[in-house]
Amino acid sequence: MSSTKRYIEVALPLPVRKTFTYEVPQDLEEAPSPGRRVLVPLGRRLLTGFVLGPALTLPTHATILPIREVLPEEVSLSPKLLKFLLWTSAYYLQPVGEVLKTSLPAGTQTRSKETIFLTEKGAEALKILEPESMEKRVLDELALKGEEGMNSSSLIRKFTPPIRGILAKIQKKGWAGKKEDLQRPPVREKKINWVRLRPSQEGIRLTGRQREVVTFLQTAQEVPVAELKTRFKNAPGVLAKLKTHGLAEIFSREAFRQPSKDGLEDWIDGPPFLLTEDQNRVLLEIFAALESGKYQPFLLHGVTGSGKTEVYLRAIDKALSRGRQALLLVPEISLTGQLVAYFRGRTSHPMAVLHSGLSAGERYDEWRKVKKGLARLVIGARSAIFAPLESLGIIIVDEEHDPSYKQDDKVRYHARDLALVRGKMEDAVVILGSATPSLESYYNAREGKFRLLSLPTRIDGRPLPEIQVLDMRLEQGEGREKPLFSRPLREALGETIGRGEQAFLFLNRRGFSTFVLCRDCGFTYRCPNCSVSLIYHLPDRTFRCHYCDHTLYAADRCPQCASSSFLLYGSGTQRLEEEIKKMLPRVPVTRMDRDTTTRKGSHQKILGQLRRGEVNLLVGTQMITKGHDLPRVTLVGVLAADLSLNLPDFRAGERTFQLLTQVAGRAGRGDLPGKVFIQSFNPNHYSIQMAREQDYAAFFEREAQIRQEMSYPPFCRLVNLRFEDNSEKRITRFSQTLEDLVRRRFKEDPKLGERLEALGPAMAPLGKLKGRHRYQMLLKGKGWRSLHDFVEKLLAEIEAEFPRRGVKLTVDVDPVHML
Ligand code: ADP
Ligand code: ZN
Ligand code: ZN
Repeated sequence: MSSTKRYIEVALPLPVRKTFTYEVPQDLEEAPSPGRRVLVPLGRRLLTGFVLGPALTLPTHATILPIREVLPEEVSLSPKLLKFLLWTSAYYLQPVGEVLKTSLPAGTQTRSKETIFLTEKGAEALKILEPESMEKRVLDELALKGEEGMNSSSLIRKFTPPIRGILAKIQKKGWAGKKEDLQRPPVREKKINWVRLRPSQEGIRLTGRQREVVTFLQTAQEVPVAELKTRFKNAPGVLAKLKTHGLAEIFSREAFRQPSKDGLEDWIDGPPFLLTEDQNRVLLEIFAALESGKYQPFLLHGVTGSGKTEVYLRAIDKALSRGRQALLLVPEISLTGQLVAYFRGRTSHPMAVLHSGLSAGERYDEWRKVKKGLARLVIGARSAIFAPLESLGIIIVDEEHDPSYKQDDKVRYHARDLALVRGKMEDAVVILGSATPSLESYYNAREGKFRLLSLPTRIDGRPLPEIQVLDMRLEQGEGREKPLFSRPLREALGETIGRGEQAFLFLNRRGFSTFVLCRDCGFTYRCPNCSVSLIYHLPDRTFRCHYCDHTLYAADRCPQCASSSFLLYGSGTQRLEEEIKKMLPRVPVTRMDRDTTTRKGSHQKILGQLRRGEVNLLVGTQMITKGHDLPRVTLVGVLAADLSLNLPDFRAGERTFQLLTQVAGRAGRGDLPGKVFIQSFNPNHYSIQMAREQDYAAFFEREAQIRQEMSYPPFCRLVNLRFEDNSEKRITRFSQTLEDLVRRRFKEDPKLGERLEALGPAMAPLGKLKGRHRYQMLLKGKGWRSLHDFVEKLLAEIEAEFPRRGVKLTVDVDPVHML
C-alpha cells in the first residue's frame, strides 16, 4: 500500500456555503466514490456527509481528520443524480450539503452526540470541592444523570458563564469521562421471516397436520411465516417439527411497507376510452418527441375537464414501453391517491409513491424501491423531483402553475423549473400541464422555448360552467355585518341540494372568523409576535395566530373598552360551515382544509363520501380547487374572491385568476351543466372579469403588460434576500451594511444599473414573525447571469463583514411567496 495520503471533499448538511476536506484512512482500499455517504467528525460531533470527489486543494489552517466510516451503498446518490443536485445547489444558491440531504428520505441520517459522565474519581472529588465552585456545580449536574451521562452541548447550554474551560479541566483531572453516542438512522429496512421446504429426505413419517403444511409449501414454495400462521391453526408447532426434521427452513427477507390504499377503491375507472381528436393530436406530438429520445419541453394548456390525465397516462405508458422511466409530479398530496388509483387500474408497470403524507418508514421503502429499479413510474409531490430514477424518459408536472411546487423552507427550489433542468440532463420529454398556466410558462411557450399543446374543449363537448360575478357591496345584512351569502348564491345552493346534486363552497381562509373588531372602539386582536390579526377558532373559543400559534382565550367583552358588541369581520371555512348548518339544518356538510386533513388518508375519505353521495356539500380552502373530478358537482360558490386579490404580492392578480378558474372548473364535469357564483367587493377587477369569461389568453395579455411595465417576471429575474433577527438593533445595522455594500457596488460599476435594480432593504410584509423582525431586499436583473454573479459576490462580502453568528440570512432565487 502506498503511503501517500488521499483526501476527499465532503459536503455536510449544514447551513454554510462551503465544503469540507477529510482524509481517507490507509486501511480503505479505495476512496469512497462521489455520491457515497460517509460518517465524519466535525467539532464534537459525527455527521453524515456526502462525498463529492477527491479534494483538489487542501486547507492550510486546519488539521485534516480521517473519515470515520463509509456508509452502505444502499442509500447513496448516483453520479447522474449528484450532478443534478449540484446544479440545484449552485443555481438556487443553497448550501450543497443541505440540498443533497433533501434528496434523501428523512430519517436516514447517522449522527452522533458526545456524552459526558461522572467518573468514580469525580464522585470522590465532589465530596471535597468548594460548595459554590463552578466545578462542583457542573459535577453535581453530572451526578444527577448517573451512568447515562449527559449530552455535552446541553450541559454547556445549562450554565451561563461559559464552562468550556471548566469542562476541559474536569476532564483533564479525570473527574469526568466522555463517550461518543452514535445514533443510527431511525428508519431502516424491515425484514420479515419466510419459510420454504428443503430438498426432501425420504422416509420421514409425518402427521396429518404436518403433511398438510408440507403440501401447501410444495405449491406455494415460499411463504411469509405470518401468512402460514393465519392459514394453519397450529403453524408454530408444526413448523418447529418440520425444522427439526430438516424439512423446512426459515429465512429472512426484506419487506416493503405498503402505503395504505384507503379510499382508493372509489377512483378505479372503467376500461380505456377512445381518445378524442384533440387528445390524439396532442399525443402524436408527444410520441414523436419520445421516439426522438431527446429533450423536448411541452406546455399542455387544457381547459378544466379536457382530459389531461388520459394524455399523461398514455404518454407515460409510451415512455415505459420504450424501456424508460417516468415521473409524475402533482402539487398536492391529496391528488396522489386519485392518480395512483387511476394508474393502478390502467397500467401494470410497478410504481412508487413519494410524498410527505407517508410515514418515514413507508417513504424510505418507496424510495428504496425506486433506487433499486423496482419501480418504473414515480408519482409524487414536489420533492419527488429528486427521486433516484436512473433512466428517466418523461417528466410530467400536473397543475404546473401551482405555487406549492416552490419549496419555501430549508432548501429553496422550484420543482417545476427543476423538472425542465432534469429533463434536459436526462434527454427526457417534459410536459407541464395546466388549465391556467403560470405567466412564466405561457410566456416561454410564446417565445418558442416550449412547444404549446392545447386541449381547448371539455370532453364530450360538455360546456364550461356559466359564471356570474356578484357585487357584495350591494348586499345588505342585519346590522353592520355583511352577510356571508348573497341572495342568488343562497338560493342556488338550496335548489342544487334539493335536486340531489352536489355543491362546493370555496373560501380561502381557515378558522372561524378572520378577525374580530370591536364596534365601539375598533379594537382587534393582533399577534404580539407577528404583524397579523388573530383568527377565531370556534371549538375551543380561542384566538390563534396562524404563523406562530400564539393563543388567547376569547373574552366576552372588549379588552380595551369593555363593550360587548364585537363584529365578526371576514370569515373562515369553519364559520362558513356553521352558517350553512343554520341555513340548511338537515343537509350534511363536510369541510376540507388544513384543520380537517391532518390525519393520514383524510382527503381520500372526504372525496370518497362525495363520490358515493353520502355528503353533497363541501366547504373548503384552496384544497378543493385542485383536480378533483366529481361528476355530480353542479354548483360552485366562491365566497370572497377578494381574499387573494388583496395580498401584498405582485402575483395576487394571477393567483386570483387561477384560483377562480380552477375552482369554477370543478362544476359541471359530468352530464349535468355547472353553475358558478363569484362574490366580490371588487367585481370589476380584470382577474375576476376574465375568470368569468374563462379567457386565459386575454388574461395573459393584460397581466403580461402590467408585468412588463412594472418590470416583474417573466420580464426580469428576481432574487429576494430575507434577513431576520430577534434584535431590532442588529437587524438595522445589518440592513445598513447591506445597503452600503450594494450602493458601493453600483457606484464602482456604473453600467451595473442598466442590468440590475435593488429594492429595499424594507420591512417584509410580515414584518414580525414568531418574535423575529423580518426585512428583505429584492434584487431584479434583466439577465440571469449578471444577477447571479452579483448575488454571489454580495454573499461573500456579507460573510466577510458579518462573520459567523448574527442575523439569519436566506436567499430566495425566483421567489414565489414574498410575504
Ligand atoms: P382535466 O385533468 O383536464 O381537468 P380529466 O383528465 O380529469 O380532465 O378528465 C375529465 C373527465 O373526462 C374524466 O372523468 C375522464 O375520465 C374523462 N375522459 C378523459 N378522456 C376521455 C375520453 N377520451 N373519452 C371519454 N372520457 C374521457
Ligand atoms: Zn404570531
Ligand atoms: Zn372596544
